[in-house]
Amino acid sequence: MTVTKNETTVLKNFINGEWVNANSSQTLDVVNPATNELLTKVPISAKLDVDTAVTAAKTAFKKWKNTPVPKRARIMFKFHHLLTEHHEELARLVVQENGKAYKEAFGEVQRGIECVEFAAGAPTLMMGESLSGIAEDIDSEMFRFPLGVIGGITPFNFPMMVPLWMFPLAIACGNTFVLKPSERTPILANRLAELFTEAGAPKGVLNVVHGAHDVVNGLLEHKDIAAISFVGSQPVAKYVYMRAAAEGKRVQALSGAKNHHIVMPDADINKAVQHIISSAFGSAGQRCMACSAVVVVGENEPFVKQLKQKADELIIGNGMDEEVLLTPVIRREHREKVLGYIEKGVADGAKLLRDGRNEMDDLPEGNFLGPTIFDHVTPDMTIAKEEIFAPVLSLLRAKDLDEGLEYIRQSRYGNGATIYTNDAKAVRKFREEADAGMLGINVGVPATMAFFPFSGWKDSFYGDLHVNGKDGINFYTRKKMITSRYE
Ligand code: NAD
Repeated sequence: MTVTKNETTVLKNFINGEWVNANSSQTLDVVNPATNELLTKVPISAKLDVDTAVTAAKTAFKKWKNTPVPKRARIMFKFHHLLTEHHEELARLVVQENGKAYKEAFGEVQRGIECVEFAAGAPTLMMGESLSGIAEDIDSEMFRFPLGVIGGITPFNFPMMVPLWMFPLAIACGNTFVLKPSERTPILANRLAELFTEAGAPKGVLNVVHGAHDVVNGLLEHKDIAAISFVGSQPVAKYVYMRAAAEGKRVQALSGAKNHHIVMPDADINKAVQHIISSAFGSAGQRCMACSAVVVVGENEPFVKQLKQKADELIIGNGMDEEVLLTPVIRREHREKVLGYIEKGVADGAKLLRDGRNEMDDLPEGNFLGPTIFDHVTPDMTIAKEEIFAPVLSLLRAKDLDEGLEYIRQSRYGNGATIYTNDAKAVRKFREEADAGMLGINVGVPATMAFFPFSGWKDSFYGDLHVNGKDGINFYTRKKMITSRYE
């Protein structure tokens, strides 16, 4: 069930309120990761398509920036209503093109809806500041204005939520938008464009251009793009940040991750295992907030034993099956890359506590991989350092919390980290010293909600202002100061 305007073989771009063919005959197959069945084809659009979309967005900006903020917010309310009405259908689309479990997809849609809720607060969020009497008979005021046309580039792992981190808030702030969704999960972007149009968005305010590197580069280079919001892997995030900044654009680039979970000796083992299993293996480990490294503090063999036992019990399969927690990785090639990491872990001397490589004989069509756990991983090993983005978990052993915190400090990434404990002193030390932007205290996926910034540190983020929350408002607006004399 592909609910887009594009039930023919190739998806269309959405430019200036019209569904149009890309100026390119190049396409990529979009497949269901659970079956590798062809869903549709995505066009690899040309720079010309970017130019057309940016021109449409630039033209629309002239009127949109002057559309009263409450009127813009009303479109967000309508959009919110439509997304809520289509919640289940959207979740099914997420499962179909991304492969994650329906329950997770339903949650992802909910997280996306919350971003629209936040954006609907634009009249309050965009308020400026003022001070009467900065000098005799002189007042000062600050107003916020939109930037212009924003380019958004998104990854495959949250095809609903990540675009909704970006375009509703940018547009509520008075900007117009060109979205380049992941070429591996492009279907949902078209559905969002349809619903946004149904909500009353004027033509040219949101445009979708499908494709790959050329479209990205077209956006990064375009003189009429004022800012870039990017979410994706580390090398690309760094490239996008440097390239867009060199072109004088405002840029936020959210990047890869390696999230450590510290299990303290006093932790409630049942709960810690439950949270870690869901964080590490939910969405097949393909979440930027997934637990990918557990730091076991002290001798805690009961924890390790129970973790393995729960991993053994995981039900693997198609995300549409309600019982399933472990779903396929996005593509066959990604699975191959993950197998390479597992081999490297073995070669580097880590103990393969649970091998998920050969469990999927009854699901040969999908990109499945069983839960894989390495024990006695050391921080210098490749599997400890690099983002694998799969159901592969490393256990590192630490003598105390200080050593655990040192492992987190040594990591190039700093998206999230969690501690499992009821010891207030340990919690405080972790809060003060853990070198990451989003911390969990007994929480498996400490991702923030839309009214807070989503904040990675170190190589997990390039830029200054994060997505969502007040950072989001600051990113999508520029300030004007007015000083007035009244004598
Ligand atoms: P990706 O980097 O492969 O792709 C992201 C986007 O960049 C896509 O739209 C893609 O078309 C484009 N792209 C890819 N290679 C490019 C290149 N060489 N030049 C120009 N554009 C290019 O990422 P992905 O595999 O789709 O997504 C997974 C990654 O995203 C993981 O690393 C994950 O941690 C990260 N991610 C981070 C966050 C966060 O909040 N920090 C959130 C979600 C995902």
